[in-house]
Amino acid sequence: MADKFRGLVLSQQDKSVQAEFQDLSVDDLPDGDVLVRVDWSTLNYKDGMILNGLGRLVRHYPHVPGVDFAGEVVSSGDGRYAPGDQVILTGWRVGEAHWGGYAQYARVRADWLVPMPDGLDGAHAMAIGTAGFTSMLAVMALEEQGVSPDQDGEILVTGAAGGVGSVAVSILTKLGYRVAASTGRKDTHDYLRGLGAVSIVDRSELEDASKPLLSERWLGAIDSVGSSTLAHVLSEMKYHGVVAACGLAGGPDLPATVIPFLLRGVRLIGIDSVMCPYEKRVSAWDRLAQDLPLAGLDSATTKVALRDILPWGEKILKGQVRGRLLINVQDC
Ligand code: NDP
Repeated sequence: MADKFRGLVLSQQDKSVQAEFQDLSVDDLPDGDVLVRVDWSTLNYKDGMILNGLGRLVRHYPHVPGVDFAGEVVSSGDGRYAPGDQVILTGWRVGEAHWGGYAQYARVRADWLVPMPDGLDGAHAMAIGTAGFTSMLAVMALEEQGVSPDQDGEILVTGAAGGVGSVAVSILTKLGYRVAASTGRKDTHDYLRGLGAVSIVDRSELEDASKPLLSERWLGAIDSVGSSTLAHVLSEMKYHGVVAACGLAGGPDLPATVIPFLLRGVRLIGIDSVMCPYEKRVSAWDRLAQDLPLAGLDSATTKVALRDILPWGEKILKGQVRGRLLINVQDC
């Protein structure tokens, strides 16, 4: 490998965060037992927050962001990985507490890596990324609670045109569920139908959280919005319905009552992708390789060079990104 490589480095000046592309060397990288050439990363909502210095997610600067990446092992001090292996990293607070994927090389702990599953390459793995991995964890949570495609009813996906939502719509459709996609953007309706949604619910229909119980509507739900949307969804669940709570794009609060739990036995399951244990990670990635149609994934993915990433960091915070953003890290 060359002595120098390129990376996006955040620094803090007068409490504001500045981003600059710099030449880095392996000696600049933090400690770890595996050195990876990063080929692909993604832009997630959390990356948008970090690029804009929001949420106090990064405590130490200078910092290389990028909460996930896929690439090839260059050298390894751990017997599980050898040079040439293709690997994926999501979570473990990489890109927040540890330098992440927005540099052409990363040094990380072997424990944080997952081997590339058969049937996926680095670009597809990162088109899926943390968002898609989270969607699969949510689908698996519904399954673990007994939800299945042969039951009567639709699965609601909120924030459907975003990263988590788009991949959830694709996976659920492939598995044979009837999917209702909720979005606030009219220009995404055809896109969501193309991913397989059988009905579209305007975001505004789900915003009123004033009634604890409404007519039973959803067999299951995958929610990336939180706040009054999640409260409304809880009140519309069928008897014994299951909601997987993934995100907070609409806010971190939950202005709900316990009535749906007490009168309908509704189950609310939390989804965490960051500290998810290794065995579950591997099985979720295997499931993604099997159950996510790559054609649908391609239509949900926009490819961006790392050198052009900064404006996208602002767009994702404004809810202006459709589907997944795949970052070509070597193009920097
Ligand atoms: P995106 O920005 O791609 O998608 C979020 C979507 O939510 C938007 O596209 C929009 O969908 C909808 N939305 C945005 N703002 C609002 C609002 N004010 N009210 C209602 N809906 C809104 O983000 P991601 O898909 O990457 O992430 C979604 C959420 O999941 C985030 O909160 C993120 O932090 C969280 N997350 C959690 C993880 C975990 O481990 N639990 C892992 C990854 C992400 P539309 O335009 O269709 O209405």
